Amino acid sequence: MAAVFLVTLYEYSPLFYIAVVSLCFLVTAAMVLGWFGVDVPVILRSSDDGESITPTPEKHMVQVTNPFALDLGFGSGCVTGGVALKPGCLEPCILSCFWGCEIRALQGALQTHQSRQCFSSSLLLDALKQRSLFSHSFHVSCVDRQEQHTVIPAHLGITDFGSLPREHYPLVAVLTLAETEAENTYDIVASVTVVHVPDDKYNLSARILFQYLLTSLGSVYELKPLFMSADGAAEPAPPDPPHSDRPDEPDEEDSWSEGRGRDCVVCQNAAVNRVLLPCRHACVCDSCVSRFQHCPICRAFVLESFVLGTPSDR
Ligand SMILES: [Zn+2]
Ligand SMILES: [Zn+2]
Repeated sequence: MAAVFLVTLYEYSPLFYIAVVSLCFLVTAAMVLGWFGVDVPVILRSSDDGESITPTPEKHMVQVTNPFALDLGFGSGCVTGGVALKPGCLEPCILSCFWGCEIRALQGALQTHQSRQCFSSSLLLDALKQRSLFSHSFHVSCVDRQEQHTVIPAHLGITDFGSLPREHYPLVAVLTLAETEAENTYDIVASVTVVHVPDDKYNLSARILFQYLLTSLGSVYELKPLFMSADGAAEPAPPDPPHSDRPDEPDEEDSWSEGRGRDCVVCQNAAVNRVLLPCRHACVCDSCVSRFQHCPICRAFVLESFVLGTPSDR
């Protein structure tokens, strides 16, 4: 009876075909959704799905106060004409300029600072002075942000620092606190800025090459710029921060004040408050940071992230 019914269906009814196709569909859907406990490779999920990735670990940050900032002043510098330096300090400082400072001397001085585990400004300054072609210093007050003009005296006859590769940095500018008692107030006790100054043999325009911060406990950190995403303004802006966060390698918060209020590039809704590491792009908000394993700007793999601004801003 059943066979007759099936044969009749087979011969006369499109319902049979519809039923068979529906059954196949149900079985496939069941397998994909895992009803039978069979692990079918699923291709319906995108790789950037928030559920399928682990959130990026947060970098542990320590807030420190950096009393020093140094920028290049107005105008293009050169060896014979000198360079304008623009310090901005929270305390009265001494700005020491070392022209033609030996690269090895600076590295040695930083290593000595690390091995001694305490800071001595005279030791650092003497070590650089002995291995520089010319040095002098200025007293910098914390009130007026005057530019200081440093130049090698013409009678020394120095017009270049040799051909490449070089053994001398054109200019090393060191900021130290004028009053040693103030060293107890700040975590950062000296800032060392390496400046390139164009000369006859290498005429790349004047610029800051490196900036290091020295702590009273014998650590040396390199200051690095953050890259803000909005308005195409990826800016390695020079520092002017009263505060700077210090992870294992400190990242600079210089653009933070300008970046406040810029929108997250992903949701366009919340303000940017996360910095991705190691690419240092500040481009996403708190809620979007966990949704990505790759930076939305440069596609670099995100190893860590940290909060931009102080914890009280959150
Ligand atoms: Zn967002
Ligand atoms: Zn990036």
